[in-house]
Amino acid sequence: MSVASRLEAMKDSFARSDRMPVVFLGHGSPMNVIEDTEFSRAWTKLGQSLPRPQAILVVSAHWMTTGTTLVDVSAMPRTIYDFYGFPEALYQERYPAPGQPELAREVITLLKSHRAQEDDRWGLDHGAWAVLKYLYPGADVPVFQVSIDMSRRLEHQLEIGRALSELRDRGVLVLGSGNVVHNLRAMRPGAPPMDFAEAFDTLFAERLSDRDFSALADRERLGTLLSAAHPTVDHYLPALTIAGASHAGDALSYMTSAIDLGSVSMRSFIFHAV
Ligand code: ZN
Repeated sequence: MSVASRLEAMKDSFARSDRMPVVFLGHGSPMNVIEDTEFSRAWTKLGQSLPRPQAILVVSAHWMTTGTTLVDVSAMPRTIYDFYGFPEALYQERYPAPGQPELAREVITLLKSHRAQEDDRWGLDHGAWAVLKYLYPGADVPVFQVSIDMSRRLEHQLEIGRALSELRDRGVLVLGSGNVVHNLRAMRPGAPPMDFAEAFDTLFAERLSDRDFSALADRERLGTLLSAAHPTVDHYLPALTIAGASHAGDALSYMTSAIDLGSVSMRSFIFHAV
């Protein structure tokens, strides 16, 4: 089934519930910002299919903090160009969506036991705006980011997701942006999927479909396959946040599942009420 027809089928289930879906997007290369790719086309289609949110909360792989979870409370988050050596056109892009300071402060309260604190300096990194540009090209939905605390165990991000899940009933789109497999050292343009990339991606999808989230957060059981797929886990953690924000009765749909550049999984998934 094509991405378009898969999203069309989901649209009916979106219409039946007031509860917002939760979405994880593999963002991959910053080149998707300026190139018409199967991924950028899928993000456009997704934006057209999702119920219109009141606000968007983004957990991006590119906002890493240590010992705290920061929540951006700025009124106008800046566009951050956190990539190097890319064509000039990427640095000309802007995503001028407003923030949502009031809701962001509520999120700090919601995450109080997770050492959440406010921040007004971050803005929107490319993990957020590179996909939002396609989802909501008008930049007219308020958006704010929540950081990932790199000092905690993998389970912590499942807990963050659980705490955030109640926002779904208030019209908030909780969006995770990272990659299910992300090994930049192994990355080769045009390369076929590498064995470890396919193996981890398949394992991830199986456990996710089984709702066995604790297996996905178990470093010991994931073993060397995890370290091959993720020399550092920053791009993995947002996928766990989104798993944590799912409800037991949600349906799970996959959008794209290609492996790009040999070692970057673009697998994207949506949990939605049925
Ligand atoms: Zn990235």
